[in-house]
This record gives sequence, structure tokens and C-alpha cells, in this order.
Amino acid sequence: MQENIIPHQFSINKEDRTALKGHRSFLLWFTGLSGSGKSTIANAVEKYLVDQGIHTYTLDGDNVRKGLNNNLTFSPEDRTENIRRIAEVANLMVDAGLVVLAAFVSPYKVDRENIRNIVGAESFVEIFVNTPLEECERRDVKGLYAKARAGEILNFTGINAPYEAPEHPDIEIDTTQYTVEEAVSEIVKHIKTKLVK
Ligand code: ADP
Repeated sequence: MQENIIPHQFSINKEDRTALKGHRSFLLWFTGLSGSGKSTIANAVEKYLVDQGIHTYTLDGDNVRKGLNNNLTFSPEDRTENIRRIAEVANLMVDAGLVVLAAFVSPYKVDRENIRNIVGAESFVEIFVNTPLEECERRDVKGLYAKARAGEILNFTGINAPYEAPEHPDIEIDTTQYTVEEAVSEIVKHIKTKLVK
């Protein structure tokens, strides 16, 4: 089928869309254990950006796993497909001119490399929310660690499924060392020049 898909030459491209918005578009990808603080920090960064007049969208487990990816499990193959689809959606949103924030455990290095390939290295900012497992488990925001320890959840990252930590993330945040506000400042400092057209 693929060879019969011939792209149409549309008159409006990414440059036109970002010119209209007045800032560049890219993907902020938050990776880390469940409860590490990805969604909390992404939410605070998005609020800051919107206050500055930046056009954004946040992708997270709630809006993706319940819709687009509701046929996927947490098996290694399905986790890979989950991340691939999210990366493709994020890529379309970056093409649309948005600053996209994505908060997903995304435990496999190869999957995160794939995101970089899909959106392009210049549009990908990898943020490792590196909160120690003990602290994530102590927070147990959703009660999932207790369930995983009790053997009620299989394939739970950090307990009975692996997390492959990024070796060279663009930004690394340990939330036992940084407040949410400090994490936001750190991220904003990093992306300030990236936003400018
Ligand atoms: P994730 O999206 O990584 O699963 P969440 O953001 O849902 O994690 O949960 C992180 C929890 O940790 C929240 O309850 C948040 O209030 C708490 N928390 C405490 N300190 C911090 C911090 N410095 N940064 C981010 N979250 C923090």
C-alpha cells in the first residue's frame, strides 16, 4: 500500500504555522518512574508557557491510553507500540506549531531513541525525572506500587519490569532535590532560546 501513497503538495507548512504562532515548536518528553513527578512538572511548565502566550498541548497516559491506545497492554511489545504512536501524534502536533509536553514512563532506551528519530533530534528535548524508586514508592500517588508489591500488577516498572535510565538526557531533575518551581525554572532556562523564531 505504502508505495501508492503520494504526498500532496500543501501550500501551508510548519514554517507558516510557527510564524503565525510567533514561536518555534518542539517536543518536551518527560521520562521516569511512576510517581516521579512527570505530570506534575509538565503541568506546571505548560501553565508557565501558556501564561507567556505559547501554544501548547500535553499528552499523558490519561488522554492517550483511554483513547488512541486503548487496545494496548503493558507488555514490552505493546509499550513499544504505545510510545511509537504517541511519538507520531506528537510529531503531527509539532508540525502544527505546538510546544508538546509528553509525560510517559517510557522505560526502554530504544523506544526513546525512536521518538528522537520520528520528531527529529532538533525538536526533541529529553527530560529525565530522576526521583529515586524509594521516594516514588513512598508517595505511591495512585496506590499502584502497593498493588505491584502484592503481585496484583505484572510488568510494573521499577518493581517487576525494568527502567532503562537515559545516559545523556537534555535535562535531569531529582524531585527530592528540586521543588516543582525550581524544576520549571530549570526547564524554562533550557528551552528559552529554542522558543525564539
Ligand atoms: P508521574 O506523572 O511521574 O507518575 P505525578 O506527577 O503524577 O508523577 O506524581 C508525583 C507526585 O509527587 C505528586 O503527588 C506531586 O505532588 C509529588 N511531588 C512532591 N515533590 C515534587 C516535586 N519536587 N516535583 C514534582 N512532584 C513532586
